[in-house]
Amino acid sequence: MDRERRVEVRAPLKASDRDIADFVRSRDDWLRRTLARMAEEPQPIYLRNVQGARHPYRGRVIVLHLETGSRRIVLDDDRLRVRLPDLAPEKISRALDRWYRERAREHFETAIDRHFPFFAERGHRRPVLRVKRMKSRWGSLSQRGYINLSLSLVQLPPVCLDYVVAHELCHLEQMNHGPRFHALMDRVMPDWRARSRLLNRLPPVVPGTP
Ligand SMILES: [Zn+2]
Repeated sequence: MDRERRVEVRAPLKASDRDIADFVRSRDDWLRRTLARMAEEPQPIYLRNVQGARHPYRGRVIVLHLETGSRRIVLDDDRLRVRLPDLAPEKISRALDRWYRERAREHFETAIDRHFPFFAERGHRRPVLRVKRMKSRWGSLSQRGYINLSLSLVQLPPVCLDYVVAHELCHLEQMNHGPRFHALMDRVMPDWRARSRLLNRLPPVVPGTP
């Protein structure tokens, strides 16, 4: 069984179709359980910085197009054109990391701007954005006035980014996840539960190769 959830059965040449079908049927329960478990645990997506690699970006797929020349990175429709004087892997990684951080900052600030007016009216100060590589969370809000957001959010659909931003901004008012926090979320973003479910179903994105 592979990541695409195809099932491969290896059988001796002399096995009849009937035998194979019987065998698969006998493993039916196990298969069903395993497939259900795999559906619950999405497989990670690896970000490879090679020619033609596919990267998730704001909920869609963009394809890396590498070329040598004077330094320039542009997103041209679904093609991310990366032009560098030197295409050594570490140079590509560094340039892409920087490009993703710049895009993250731009889109995260816009998302904060979209949701902050509600909180400004309630007397809160706009937190300062920090884009970070975070291992196990999407964001956090510090008491010292920072909103920390995971760089990986730039890979996710904008509806998920907005959900995380709204969640963190609600912590300006409610520091825990109690009923008052959820009541506030309901006001700020009535469909936050659906967004949260989507976020939890998305596969993790990890740099490098499997
Ligand atoms: Zn929280």
